[in-house]
Amino acid sequence: MNSNFIDENLIFEYIEKYQNPDSKLVDDVINKALELNGLSIADAAILLNTKNQDDIQKIYHAAYKVKDEIYGKRLVLFAPLYVSNYCSNNCLYCGFRADNKEISRTTLSIDQIKEETLGILEQGHKRVLMLMGEQHKNCPTDFFFDAIDAVYSVKDSKGNSIRRINVEIAPLNDEEFQRISQIKIGTYTVFQETYHRETYKFMHPSGKKSDYDWRLTTMDRALSNGLHDVGIGALFGLFDYRFEVMAMIQHSEHLDKNYGAGPHTISIPRVQPANNAPASHHLKYAVSDDELKKLVAVLRLSVPYTGMILSTREPAHLRTQLFDLGISQISAGSKTNPGGYKQAFSEKVDEGQFTLNDCRSSGEIIQDVIKQGFIPSFCTGCYRLGRVGQDFMDQAKPGLIKIYCQPNGLTTLREYLNDYADDDTKKLGNELIEKELDLIPNESVKEKTKEFIDRIDNGERDLYF
Ligand code: SAM
Ligand code: SF4
Repeated sequence: MNSNFIDENLIFEYIEKYQNPDSKLVDDVINKALELNGLSIADAAILLNTKNQDDIQKIYHAAYKVKDEIYGKRLVLFAPLYVSNYCSNNCLYCGFRADNKEISRTTLSIDQIKEETLGILEQGHKRVLMLMGEQHKNCPTDFFFDAIDAVYSVKDSKGNSIRRINVEIAPLNDEEFQRISQIKIGTYTVFQETYHRETYKFMHPSGKKSDYDWRLTTMDRALSNGLHDVGIGALFGLFDYRFEVMAMIQHSEHLDKNYGAGPHTISIPRVQPANNAPASHHLKYAVSDDELKKLVAVLRLSVPYTGMILSTREPAHLRTQLFDLGISQISAGSKTNPGGYKQAFSEKVDEGQFTLNDCRSSGEIIQDVIKQGFIPSFCTGCYRLGRVGQDFMDQAKPGLIKIYCQPNGLTTLREYLNDYADDDTKKLGNELIEKELDLIPNESVKEKTKEFIDRIDNGERDLYF
C-alpha cells in the first residue's frame, strides 16, 4: 500500500520558509481558518512558527470560535480499559516494552474484564477505550473479540451498560480488519507515534512495530476493509512538534481524499516518564505547555471537523486551558494498568504504562468541567444511529452535528446527575442544563430535549437524537 503521502522534504521546506512570519500573514491564515474549510500544511507552518504573543492569542481565540461553532459546549467523556500489558514490541518510551522485565504482566480474564467494566460504569461512563499491548501469544485476536462481548454484557446496579467501545490496538491485517468491522466497535485508533522515519526507526528497535510503513498504512487497511471511523495521533516529545502536526495534516488529507472522510479523531499525547523506558526521560524534543497549547489550537483550525482527544497524561490546570483551544473529548478517572479500576477500589499502588498527571476521580473532573461552563457529555448517538465515516463528516461540515451534540450532551448529563452525582454536582449540573436548554436555537429540538429530560427523570434511559 502506498505510504508516500507523508512528504518529509516538503514539511521541512515549509518549516524553514516560514520562520518568524509577519502578523499580516498570520492574520490571513486565521481568516481563512474561520471559514471552517481547514488549512494546508503551509498555513499550519505559518501559525506554528509564530512566536509573537499577540498573534498566538489571536490563534487561540480563533480556535475557540471554530470549536464552538462545530461542537458547541459539549466535552465527551470516556475511560480507558487496559486488558493486557503483554507486549513483544520494544518502543523505547513505553513501560510495557518487552525489555522491561520489572513489570508484572497480565492478561485479564473475562470475569476480570467484567469487573473492570463495572468499576468504569460506576463512575458514570458510557464509553470505553479498550487497549492492550501487542502480543498474540498471550493476548490473541480471538480473546479481543470475547473481551468486547464481555464489556457490552455488563449492567451496573442502575441498569446501565457501556454503549460504545472504541479500540486502540496494534495494526491489523486485511482479514482481521474485515472481522473486526463485523462487530460493534466505534473508532479504531492507532498512533503513528512519530511520522519522522529516522526517529521512528530509532524508537522502535524490534518487534512488528519496527515497520514504519506497516503502521502508517494501518488506516488505509482499516478503511478499505469495512471500518468507518479511525483515529490517528502522534506522541509528542519524540521529534519536532511542528513536523508531527504537519504530518498529521498530510495523513488527514490523504484519508479524506481516498476514503471520503478524514480521521474521526486526532490524539495529542505527550511522552510521560515510564519505568525502564529510556526514551521517556530527558527528551530532546520535549514539548512545553505553551507549545502544546499552540499545537492544539493549530490542529483545531487545520482539521476543524475532527474530534480532538486529551488524556489524563496532562495535569488538571492545563487540561482546563486546552478545552478552550479545541479539545472535544477527554478521558477521566483513568487507570493504565490492567485491573487498575478494581485496584483503585482497594487502594493498592498501580503499575501503569506511564505516569498520569490528572489523577482526580471522574466525579471531580465532571464537576470541574461543569463549573467551566462545558457540558460533560456521555453521548454515543452518532455511532448508534449510523452517523459515521463520511456521513458524519457530511453532517459536521454544514454545522449540523452541533444540533445533535448539544441536546444529547444535556440528556446524558441528566442521566449522570440522576444516577451517579453527589449533591453539589447535581445542583451545578442541573443549573447548567436549564441554562443550555434555553439556548437551543431550534424550537422543536428544544421541546423534544425537554421531553427526553422529563422521561429520564421518570426512569427512562438512553434517549437520543
Ligand atoms: N500497544 C498498542 C500500540 O502501541 O499502538 C496500543 C496502544 S498503547 C497501549 C497506547 C499508546 O500509549 C501508544 O500508542 C503510545 O503513544 C502511548 N505511550 C506509550 N508510552 C508512553 C509514555 N511514556 N508516555 C505517554 N504515552 C505513551
Ligand atoms: Fe507495546 Fe504499544 Fe507500549 Fe509499544 S507503545 S511497547 S506496542 S504497548
